[in-house]
Amino acid sequence: MTTLRTPAQLCEQGLIPPERRAELEKVAARYAVAVPPALAGLIDGKDPHDPIARQFVPDVAELERRPEEDADPIGDDAHSPVEGIVHRYPDRVLLKLTHVCAVYCRFCFRREMVGPDKPNALSREALARALDYIRAHEEIWEVILTGGDPLVLSARRLREVMKALGEIAHVKVVRIHSRVPVADPARITAELVRAMRASGKATYVAVHVNHARELAPHARAALARMADAGIPLLGQSVLLRGVNDTPEALGELMRALVECRVKPYYLHHGDLAPGTAHLRTDIATGQALMRQLHGRWSGLCQPTYVLDIPGGHGKSPIGPSYIERTGTNGGEHFAVDDFRGGRHHYPPAE
Ligand code: SF4
Repeated sequence: MTTLRTPAQLCEQGLIPPERRAELEKVAARYAVAVPPALAGLIDGKDPHDPIARQFVPDVAELERRPEEDADPIGDDAHSPVEGIVHRYPDRVLLKLTHVCAVYCRFCFRREMVGPDKPNALSREALARALDYIRAHEEIWEVILTGGDPLVLSARRLREVMKALGEIAHVKVVRIHSRVPVADPARITAELVRAMRASGKATYVAVHVNHARELAPHARAALARMADAGIPLLGQSVLLRGVNDTPEALGELMRALVECRVKPYYLHHGDLAPGTAHLRTDIATGQALMRQLHGRWSGLCQPTYVLDIPGGHGKSPIGPSYIERTGTNGGEHFAVDDFRGGRHHYPPAE
């Protein structure tokens, strides 16, 4: 099986019924579609609520755009001083090398910017200007390769970029954000892993995974190849209605990540990307789920629940608060919730 890129191909593989094909052609004309074999093989075509299909198989609801939704929901453009760079926070930049991904997620916050019909990769000249920008800004401590998916690049091209970053003294950390380890695990070859490490800087890989079933044996092996090479792995997940919005699904996901040596880092609240309302939960649901995670699972399984504030104002933690100030009479007094939901005074009441 090759990567499925059209409703006709999805239909042939039994992932959509023939009667939905015509309406899904309209969705595919609007937003990129790609379901690679590693993910297509995980979908149960008979289950109308399959959590893998829900993330990658187009849905006619994507044509419904809400007034609050925005083509650039986290404000990348407002913070892009040169092509390929987003400089939102003082100490770090995004470097977007490509607009192509191994799979197109139906909830993607950059869905208006990624896809094969978009300009494919930063030209050599544009990349040189982006690297010049990083060289000229000594406050940049960390460079985050994102996209598109930087791990769709060849090992040779990735190595060139990493070596160039390695020569910039003030850059101490390089982070690669990718879905390739689950979407196309065979791409994580020894050569690509060596290229990831070619900068000589502290290099992290943040893997995007939203359901435990994505961590199939080939994906686990790909993650092990990176972990065994000494690359620290972080997990990024998006809270999605019908995919991971139950305590069981979210807890199993976090446990599966930790078992693969991936430390859960962020749980993103769904961004206000066009045509994604059917996949978003509300924030109260997210906070309740975080409380349940805290109550039931190891500290290693706890990501930070974050919202990217629309307009480019950056991420803020929005998880539930476990502490409340109860008074200042004779010193500070608080009430703190424990993992079972019990309340306690701090300092303890006499
Ligand atoms: S892999 Fe990332 S950038 Fe690509 S479609 Fe999915 S969420 Fe968007």
